[in-house]
Amino acid sequence: MTTAGSTTGGRVKIVDILHSPARTRAFASWLIGQRGKVVSILRNGTLALVELDGEPSELLGGARRWPIHWDDLLVYTVDAGPVNLEDGYRLGLSSLKRNAVQHAVQAGSRTSLCGKPVHPLPICDWSMPFSPRATRACPACVRLAAQPS
Ligand SMILES: [Zn+2]
Repeated sequence: MTTAGSTTGGRVKIVDILHSPARTRAFASWLIGQRGKVVSILRNGTLALVELDGEPSELLGGARRWPIHWDDLLVYTVDAGPVNLEDGYRLGLSSLKRNAVQHAVQAGSRTSLCGKPVHPLPICDWSMPFSPRATRACPACVRLAAQPS
């Protein structure tokens, strides 16, 4: 059985984790939104082994390849190319704790606008935008991000 796009080498984006194995589902919040490519087909074609873009993340246990059900994937027919990181600031965390302060970071940087070292987000492709309205947004970064560059 083959479904559309169920070949190796295809570019995919993880849009959901409903049908994937339990091990994958346990990391759903970190995996959804990630992009990668299909490196293998598992379980008679029902699962894709997806190799995530970027460096293996500590938050994902260092694992880069994840078995993911096709129904949880958006398959690009054409390579979507690199994600555009040019627009706006990225979110950088002061620590990996849940209540970490959210700093604004320029794409590719590990220092926040206010000069603090921040933890890079797990995968460079998976970068959340900095939101000045977030409860834990750093006030200094909010002010600096609002200034025209
Ligand atoms: Zn800051």
